[in-house]
Amino acid sequence: MRLVEHPDWGTKVRPPKWWHGRRWWKRSPESVKHWCWHQTEVLGGIAARDLEAYLERLHGHAVEPGKRQRDGVPYAYVYSPRFEALVALTHPAWCGYHGNGGNKGIGIAIDASIPGELLDVDALAEAWGMAIDHAEGVGFKPSLITSHRQHSNMRGGDPGAEVWRVVELVGRELGLRVDEGTTGSGRPIPEHWRP
Ligand SMILES: [Zn+2]
Repeated sequence: MRLVEHPDWGTKVRPPKWWHGRRWWKRSPESVKHWCWHQTEVLGGIAARDLEAYLERLHGHAVEPGKRQRDGVPYAYVYSPRFEALVALTHPAWCGYHGNGGNKGIGIAIDASIPGELLDVDALAEAWGMAIDHAEGVGFKPSLITSHRQHSNMRGGDPGAEVWRVVELVGRELGLRVDEGTTGSGRPIPEHWRP
């Protein structure tokens, strides 16, 4: 598993260039209590296309014109099974819209379409641990985990049972606990998601 920092990430805490024109705000490490988990392909996968375009640039492959229509993914971290990489997209100090009531958390997504694609459980566990370490390295250490599902009834499968099981198991091992609460139209984590 490689950790790839977006060129805008840098060592300086600054808003990423690709966020221009979007709303974002700066926050202190103490104010961030959650990780908020997502799956990119859960409803349409626009974010997945953005990430793919970025990773293709990174790898030096040509990117088809028009593929970067929406340049930007509002997550802090994205795990890409396809590229075997954890991408640090935005510094956790910058917060944008990624998860309705879960926005105050650090947004993290798996770039996948599950169920459908095979999930490499060990690789997901490794990427998740890597993200926790990386955020902690810059002073952000949330103690709770939430899912997009818990904050919107339009995201009932986000990130879904297979992903969540790993997220919760590894999270517990690393001292995190699940926030059982919901906001807005969000719904609780279903029993069959639980490890
Ligand atoms: Zn989501």
